[in-house]
Amino acid sequence: MQVTVLGAGIIGVSTAWHLLQRGHEVTLVDRQPDAALETSFANAAQISVSYCEPWANKEAPLKTLKWMFSDESPLLFRPQLDWAQWRWGLQFLAQCNDKAFVRNVAQLVALGAYSHAALKDVVAETGIEYNRLERGIAHYYTDQKSFDGAADAAAVMQRFGVQRRVVTREELLAIEPALQAFGDRIVGGTYTQSDESGDARVFTQQLAALCGQRGARLLFGHDIEQLESDGREVRQVRVRDRATGLASVLKADAFVVACGSYSTPLLASVGVNVPIYPGKGYSATLPLLRPERAPSVSLLDDQMKCAVSRLGNELRVAGTIELGGFDLSLDTPLARKRCDMLVRRIEQVFPGVADTRTADEGGDPRFWCGLRPATPTNIPLIGRTRLRKLWINAGHGTLGWTHGAGSGKAIAELIHGEQPAMNFGFQGMGSYPKAAAPAGVRRLQATSRG
Ligand SMILES: Cc1cc2nc3c(=O)[nH]c(=O)nc-3n(C[C@H](O)[C@H](O)[C@H](O)COP(=O)(O)OP(=O)(O)OC[C@H]3O[C@@H](n4cnc5c(N)ncnc54)[C@H](O)[C@@H]3O)c2cc1C
Repeated sequence: MQVTVLGAGIIGVSTAWHLLQRGHEVTLVDRQPDAALETSFANAAQISVSYCEPWANKEAPLKTLKWMFSDESPLLFRPQLDWAQWRWGLQFLAQCNDKAFVRNVAQLVALGAYSHAALKDVVAETGIEYNRLERGIAHYYTDQKSFDGAADAAAVMQRFGVQRRVVTREELLAIEPALQAFGDRIVGGTYTQSDESGDARVFTQQLAALCGQRGARLLFGHDIEQLESDGREVRQVRVRDRATGLASVLKADAFVVACGSYSTPLLASVGVNVPIYPGKGYSATLPLLRPERAPSVSLLDDQMKCAVSRLGNELRVAGTIELGGFDLSLDTPLARKRCDMLVRRIEQVFPGVADTRTADEGGDPRFWCGLRPATPTNIPLIGRTRLRKLWINAGHGTLGWTHGAGSGKAIAELIHGEQPAMNFGFQGMGSYPKAAAPAGVRRLQATSRG
């Protein structure tokens, strides 16, 4: 089959790779000059199979309301005159209950486990190096009440087969001695040994290059302008070369939309409506001054709701969510405040370890922001649309790097006529999970990650 994959972030590239593995002819299109130059560029780097709780839980509405009034809050809802935002918000509210939470966690855990295995297979086969650290993820708490809730959250996840254990302050400092300087503020934590971290951009760009070597046509620097449909099937896609301005059409037996947050307007142009809305987040990448005192376990900071990962000789801190449209600015007072907040936290937790000076002070912090393609459930949309030949692999929200390898493999299997071996609700495939939750899951508390 000839398959055109639209979008070359982690999801599109992984889709292309797994289609090639099954013998299909692949064209991969992206407007950028290389893969992974948008949301997959500088995320928190966590392969976070065991911290995958959705944002929507019964406490979320009140928290969101409270946080609306502070520029420094982890989740900021910025109301727009945009029906898509309000509709997404209402759908999100409908997920803020225990029943939906359990159903959503079950699917995220299933996809996470499947994806982790797929990632390991790709790494074993390709030998791609991407500053991978298989040291687990530790979540540290500075507030006793929040830490008390962590035990309930860990118990819920354990019933889904997730190995998340509660650890004392002393255990946590033994797991990650780099937290020592901040140790007297920490009251305890949780730890998931099987999680890992690594650079999503490096991985995705190398995998894209390997796709090219295996015969995929890489069409970078091309805007995807229009899906052309007769109302029943997508016939072709119109693209335009950014350098020459020349338009052309791509025909194929199947088209996979993997354009992250931009999947929504693209699909809407052929009457396919999907609840994917951008959730802006920021990261700062800082050179290490004292590598020997830097963490190698990837970390979640409960108070600031940010994540910290070591990538070679740099430290990446990322987090915060703004629901306010497709704004990618980094130079507004709000954006600057949120970036500074992340850097300040690094200096507080790891004093003197990374270069946290501003550019004016002679430092070199690399700030970035990206738009998480968020669904109200946190569950990505993987499968068929109502139009023939048109598939979707998008909406991976906070977990696109974690779920990338598995989502690419799963859609390639579906297109190839195979059934992916996991209990997951694929779009348009009539396969929905039977058992939503393991027995005994009643008390729920979220440990949402940014
Ligand atoms: C601050 C932050 C921290 C995060 N941390 C983590 C983490 O630790 N772990 C984790 O698992 N996930 C994390 N994520 C989420 C993860 O980065 C995303 O879910 C993932 O990158 C989404 O990948 P994607 O391929 O769907 O989208 P993208 O990477 O955005 O790829 C979509 C591609 O489509 C292209 N495109 C879109 N529209 C068009 C068009 N019209 N024409 C041509 N090309 C087009 C874009 O150029 C882009 O390359 C984080 C996200 C953020 C913002």
